[in-house]
Amino acid sequence: MPKDTSFPTTLPKERTLLVGVEIFGDENLLPMEESLAELNRLAETAGLNVVGSVEQRLSTPNPKTYIGAGKVEEVQALLEELKAEIVLFDNELNPRHQRELEKIFASDVRVLDRTALILDIFAQHANTHEGSLQVELAQYEYRLPRLTRAWTHLARQAGGGGGRSGAGGVGLRGPGETQLEVDRRDIHRRIDFLKAELEKVRIHRGRHRARRKKSRIPVIALVGYTNAGKSTLLNQISGADVYIADQLFATLDPTTRRVDLPGGMAALFTDTVGFIQKLPTTLVAAFRATLEEIAEADLLLHVVDVTHPSAQAQAESVLETLKEIEADHIPVLTVLNKIDRLGSAEDIQEHLTGFTDTVGVSALTGEGIEELLASVHRKLFESFEQIEVMLPFQEGALTAIFHEQGQVEQIEHTREGVRISGRIPGRLLAQFKDFREDIRQQSAEDEEDDEEI
Ligand code: GDP
Ligand code: MG
Repeated sequence: MPKDTSFPTTLPKERTLLVGVEIFGDENLLPMEESLAELNRLAETAGLNVVGSVEQRLSTPNPKTYIGAGKVEEVQALLEELKAEIVLFDNELNPRHQRELEKIFASDVRVLDRTALILDIFAQHANTHEGSLQVELAQYEYRLPRLTRAWTHLARQAGGGGGRSGAGGVGLRGPGETQLEVDRRDIHRRIDFLKAELEKVRIHRGRHRARRKKSRIPVIALVGYTNAGKSTLLNQISGADVYIADQLFATLDPTTRRVDLPGGMAALFTDTVGFIQKLPTTLVAAFRATLEEIAEADLLLHVVDVTHPSAQAQAESVLETLKEIEADHIPVLTVLNKIDRLGSAEDIQEHLTGFTDTVGVSALTGEGIEELLASVHRKLFESFEQIEVMLPFQEGALTAIFHEQGQVEQIEHTREGVRISGRIPGRLLAQFKDFREDIRQQSAEDEEDDEEI
């Protein structure tokens, strides 16, 4: 794995023991081994040193310690043997589990869960003002119910300063050292402030988006499970230099690039944050605003790593999240990526079944990219509508839009204006509705019909 130098580790990496628990009857997207492998990669991304892992299958979690008493002992012994300082649970622990476990383990051992870890990674990778605000808010909301312990204890948990300045993700700390001295009320106040700030940013972004919409260039959002190859693909098709890493969540904030499609149309491609199973609900809520970008897109490119053993489950979890953010009405083109890793054509074919409307590509080598862009073009035009409009001269802007965004089939200059028939993207229909000749004629005919009766 290439070493990432964007957040240098200055402290020795903390030795971490992973704990995976499978609750019978719980629907899990990934088998426990794979979920743990993912947790391992998340831990590495956060700058932790994973030294071992423990698994348990349970019918119900222990109300006090989550895992059973015997397992607690086993973990305790392993912690000593492996000299681990962090116990990292794959499942979300409630504050009580965390407290009880920390009481049992040695005083320098910290108990963390997937949520805390993801929050920490997000804190390191948020690049924009909005991203930072969202992460800070999510961190406080996560921490608030866990603030019941003595401050001295918390100080240990929270050391190391928050955000990207934190050393190599080692701390899994709270939003910032200075907050250690403030009490709950102050945290509530900070939460209110962050919410208000975020609202301001949202309004600003909404305006920005409206402006972009006005430019009427179709927006294509790249979605997909984290590490599927979205950033690599964006680089490949735009020649841009988007940060790529074999890490989970290498980027957090959307990056947008303009790309010329075959056929002369341009489109904006937006790289979005990766999706991941067990994404903490607090984070889904926190990142709703960023995900709004997706909900506004004209087309989604769902990038799937076909070579991943859980490709199908990952794809399903992405579609599930799209539903949650109400983006499931947008047309999707499924991009089956990393085909360079597959052997024969049959092998590729085998991997492609199970998805509809797919294109196989290698974002790395560029294989299949031309076909992909052609499909994008086709897909965008698929939703085009046939219309005929009579545009008065003062509507020169609309005439220009028809030319730029639509396909003009017939054009006739008359004394009243320009009569155009052709096809335009469905999303532009509303703008032309006052000038539709086809509809006017249709309703005039209908009226005549009515009179005849
Ligand atoms: P993202 O999280 O979806 O943005 O994924 P990235 O674009 O950061 O890629 C994750 C990893 O997969 C990187 O190590 C890429 O080099 C690798 N990768 C991306 N596309 C391909 C591909 O087509 N073939 C192969 N072999 N590796 C790829
Ligand atoms: Mg990426």
